[in-house]
Amino acid sequence: MGKKDRRWDKPPTETLRVREGFTVDGFDCASTPGFPGDEDDGERFMEDRGETLSDLQEQLFAEGRSGGTRSVLLVLQGMDTSGKGGIVRHVLGMVDPQGVQHTSFGVPTAEERSHHYLWRIERALPSAGKIGVFDRSHYEDVLVVRVHNLVAADVWGARYDEINAWEQRRIDEGTRIIKCALMVSPERQLERLAERLDRPDKHWKYNPGDLDERAHWDAYMQAYQAVFDRCSTESAPWYAIPADNKWFARLAVSELLATTLEDMNLTWPAADFDVDAEKARIAALHD
Ligand code: ADP
Repeated sequence: MGKKDRRWDKPPTETLRVREGFTVDGFDCASTPGFPGDEDDGERFMEDRGETLSDLQEQLFAEGRSGGTRSVLLVLQGMDTSGKGGIVRHVLGMVDPQGVQHTSFGVPTAEERSHHYLWRIERALPSAGKIGVFDRSHYEDVLVVRVHNLVAADVWGARYDEINAWEQRRIDEGTRIIKCALMVSPERQLERLAERLDRPDKHWKYNPGDLDERAHWDAYMQAYQAVFDRCSTESAPWYAIPADNKWFARLAVSELLATTLEDMNLTWPAADFDVDAEKARIAALHD
């Protein structure tokens, strides 16, 4: 397959965007929409895009250092083994770590519980010029919390609108939000869990509680459907990423990130000193 053929036929911003009428039921987690190539093609193309991503990230960082206020926030959600950690390693791993602000959200601590659920989220927002990555997010407060009835239904029920309004405020302040749901099939999840048990180097990743959560699969899918129905907005849409093929999920998220950065029309900040005068000073030192 020629290099040209390995590019996207249709961009993930189109094919993966959750629009009205999207259903989790019947979603093909093993599909590779819009990308005509195979895993090898995907990996080669990702390397290519990585260079673009790295340049754009540096421009965003430079903008932040020069008084700009814009930032990007990548929100990752997905069932256990869906590959959230791999996205952080392989996609964000392609850019300068000093430009990335990574936060994972686990079971809230006592201190976090004593505050509003958005308190810890707000504190982790990326600063100017940074790419923030949330491994789990405020959406847990309408996912695990809903599935396990951790608060009353009217409490979590009010959160969808509250989250939309909160995200809109962040967008108005200059943060682009990219929300990616990594959709793994229950069959592939079982394979990945079994593999963790088979490999001593993966035992640390195995959590017996993951099997208990798996028993709530249908309730989780209903909760995801509600998130997609209520929180895939015009300004902060959800992207449903087929994640049975890790290479595809990584490629798709890289593309969404690169597309978002491209859309920001980033430029290198102009020098706040006289470039010719500085060149003359250096030239003088050569004499
Ligand atoms: P991971 O499973 O992502 O590797 P952890 O083992 O730290 O990371 O698991 C995080 C756990 O925290 C998940 O089971 C998740 O459902 C839970 N969690 C995250 N946010 C909340 C929340 N707001 N309320 C309750 N549980 C939460």
